[in-house]
Amino acid sequence: MRYIISSAIASFAAALPAMAEVPRVITDIHPVHSLVAQVMGDLGTPELLLEKGASEHDFQLRPSQAAGLADADLVVWIGPELTPWLERALAGLGEGSSQLALIDLPGTETRQFSESGAHHAEDAHDPDHGQDETAEAGHDGHDHSAEEAEHDEAGHDDHSHDGTDPHAWLDPANAELWLAAIAAELGRIDPENAATYSANAGSAATRIRALDAEIATTLAPIQGKPLIVYHDAYGYFAAHYGLEIFGSIALGDATAPGAARLAELRDGVAAGTPVCLFPEAQHDPTLVQQLAEGTGARIGGALDPNGSTQGPGPGAYAALLRSLAQTMVDCVQTS
Ligand SMILES: [Zn+2]
Repeated sequence: MRYIISSAIASFAAALPAMAEVPRVITDIHPVHSLVAQVMGDLGTPELLLEKGASEHDFQLRPSQAAGLADADLVVWIGPELTPWLERALAGLGEGSSQLALIDLPGTETRQFSESGAHHAEDAHDPDHGQDETAEAGHDGHDHSAEEAEHDEAGHDDHSHDGTDPHAWLDPANAELWLAAIAAELGRIDPENAATYSANAGSAATRIRALDAEIATTLAPIQGKPLIVYHDAYGYFAAHYGLEIFGSIALGDATAPGAARLAELRDGVAAGTPVCLFPEAQHDPTLVQQLAEGTGARIGGALDPNGSTQGPGPGAYAALLRSLAQTMVDCVQTS
C-alpha cells in the first residue's frame, strides 16, 4: 500500500516538481501516534512501531522497522527513559532526518518514580522503607541489562526504576504541550504545510482540553480512593486527577516485583486499604488475583496504559484516557 502511494506521489512529483511530499513520520507508541496523526490531519498518516497489544517496555524493532527508520524524515517518541534501545537505533538516522523526544521538550511536566506508586505507600506505611529501596536499587534482572552493558555507553540501565518516570503521556497537559512542538517540527521540515500543521495542532489542543475536563468529572467520585495497579505507570494520571495509587505490583518498567514490595501490598490489601486492584491488558493477571484472593478487595477490568489493545488513529489518545478513567470508576463505584 505504502509502495503504491509512494510510487504515485513520486511520478506525480516528477511531473510537478514544485509539489513537496509530506514527511514520513515514525512514532513509538499509540498515544504519540495519535497526537502526530491529529497534527498531520488529512495530509498524511504517521507510522507506528508498537504492535497491537504489546507492552511499551518490551517491544523490539523488527528488521523491516529498523530499515524503515533509516529513511524517516522525523521520528517522534517519548524518549530514552521509555525505550533506550530506540535511542541507539536513532543514532543511525540519516542526514536530514530529525527526532523529537517528547519528554525532553521544555515545559513538559515530569515526575520521578520516587514520587509515585508504591514508594509513596512505603513512605506512609512501611518502617522498612530504606531496606526496600536498597533492594530495588540493586535489582538487575531486566532482559535488556546485558545488552545495555554491552552497547550503551550512556548508561541508561537505571532509567526505569529510579529517575524520570517515562509515562508522561498520561498527563493531558503534556499531550497538549507536545502538539505545538510536533506541529513546529513538521512545519520546519515541510514549510509548505506549516499553517495546516499549526491549525490542526490548535484544534487538537482544544479537543484535549475538553477531554481533560470530561475525565476530571468522570474521576471526581473516586478521588483519594486507594488503588493498586499492575505496574508503576500511573503517577502522572493520578497526580493530574487526584487519584491515590496505594501501590503497584510490578516496577515502572513492568519488570517483576521483589518479595518486599509484594509483602507490603499484601499487608495493605489484608488491612482493607485498597478498594480495587487492576490487572493490565499487556500482562498476566495472576499476581493481581493472588493479592486479592480471600480479601474484600475487588479486581477491576484490565487497564491499558499505552492504548495498544485498541486500534491506532487520531482518536486513540482520547479513547485511552477515557478507557482508563471508566475502568477505574466502574470498579470503585461497585465496591
Ligand atoms: Zn510502563
